[in-house]
Amino acid sequence: MSNNIEFPSDRTEKLIPLVRKTFGDDMIIYADSNGSYTVDEAIRIGKILEEYKIDFYEEPVPFDWYEETKQVKTELKIPIAGGEQEPSMHNFRWLIANQALDIVQPDIFYFGGMIRSIKVARMAELFGMPCTPHISGSGLGYLYMMHFVSVIPNPGQFHEFKGFNKEIPLQCVTSDLNSDGGIVSVPTGPGSGIEIDPDFIAKHEIIKG
Ligand SMILES: [Mg+2]
Repeated sequence: MSNNIEFPSDRTEKLIPLVRKTFGDDMIIYADSNGSYTVDEAIRIGKILEEYKIDFYEEPVPFDWYEETKQVKTELKIPIAGGEQEPSMHNFRWLIANQALDIVQPDIFYFGGMIRSIKVARMAELFGMPCTPHISGSGLGYLYMMHFVSVIPNPGQFHEFKGFNKEIPLQCVTSDLNSDGGIVSVPTGPGSGIEIDPDFIAKHEIIKG
């Protein structure tokens, strides 16, 4: 959300080719500008991303610049992703129905949980759009993300992953919860498929409002 200012300046034009060169032509690369550009600048940067065959372009303009997001999408071929900061079901409906995005990214925490986020994925499915959810790195977000992408009809190819949480002691008998070449087995069984150590839970207090 920097309104075209970056630090250090001009880094984007150097970083995009450097990332492609470093990881090679076969690597799928997603780029995120965190809503930092005006429309003209978003299009200019988008064309550089296209030149280096970057695979998607997230939040080119501030997330609530809905018409402008569509304007950027119309001018570019690179798929446009967005939605991590969106709190409104109605606005997701607009973004999808007006095809202002190519990929929807509700955040399973910020948007209010699995059921609301699944509604967004299902709306997107009607328009042939994939869903690549945004997920925060704290708590058991990684686990919710894995269940979410397993149950929706239109998961994207790759998903945001900020690491396993080792602070919450838990047992999982159906998955080792490790990444093997970038692939993690989703736990099966009731609930999230894990058992949190009862002693850890017992140390916490119920807060009554
Ligand atoms: Mg993002």
